[in-house]
Amino acid sequence: MLENKDYAPQCAEMIENQLRRRGISDAAVLAAMTAVPRHEFVPPELRSQAYDDLPLPIGGGQTISQPYMVAAMTAALHLQPGDRVLEIGTGCGYQAAVLSRLVKEVFTIERRPELAAAASAALARLGSPNAHVHCGDGTLGLPELAPFDAILVAAAAPRVPQPLLAQLAEGGRMILPVGDAEHQELRLIEKRGDAFPTKMLEGCRFVPLVGYHGWQEPS
Ligand code: SAH
Repeated sequence: MLENKDYAPQCAEMIENQLRRRGISDAAVLAAMTAVPRHEFVPPELRSQAYDDLPLPIGGGQTISQPYMVAAMTAALHLQPGDRVLEIGTGCGYQAAVLSRLVKEVFTIERRPELAAAASAALARLGSPNAHVHCGDGTLGLPELAPFDAILVAAAAPRVPQPLLAQLAEGGRMILPVGDAEHQELRLIEKRGDAFPTKMLEGCRFVPLVGYHGWQEPS
């Protein structure tokens, strides 16, 4: 079918219309999103929609985030090439692949084993050897690998998970959606000594963060 199709034109249009036009100007973020083949991270039957202005289903009721949301969250973290970054909610691995092009190391946690395995394989195959997938409850973070220069949470939290705050390096930044099941607000939190100054960014809608410091497991 469209197996060998060249998606460069769709990707370029996404960069221009969905990102630049909406105010994403960080050249490194735009370059990373130009380089990562988003169509390789979506189910084969959805490839032709991979660069559309939408989240898409990736199985198990989960989604790949809308391109604009990936760009906005990544840009807000003001990443540096030497950074070590933690992501919660690997999903298909697309956000981790974008992060892996901007920083030294990415550690990403996914609670669903089948998604973690598929994302790990995709990241290895598509040139992100510095992205490491862990399977487990991301609300606990990865204390043994802390501190992190930046933490990106790609699922909606009822409140800020305290273990993640504790795993931020001095001057580190965390971005996460906080709210109820229907609507959340993106928060950008910085660690400054014992203080955590917080900025409220835009409204958003993510799938729930399910775990010890998140929502309860659906029964
Ligand atoms: N980062 C992805 C989007 C993932 S959607 C992208 O690049 O598009 C959110 C993911 O978070 C889902 O795969 C879901 O299974 C996972 N998730 C939810 N709660 C979690 C938790 N406590 N720990 C780790 N992953 C979690």
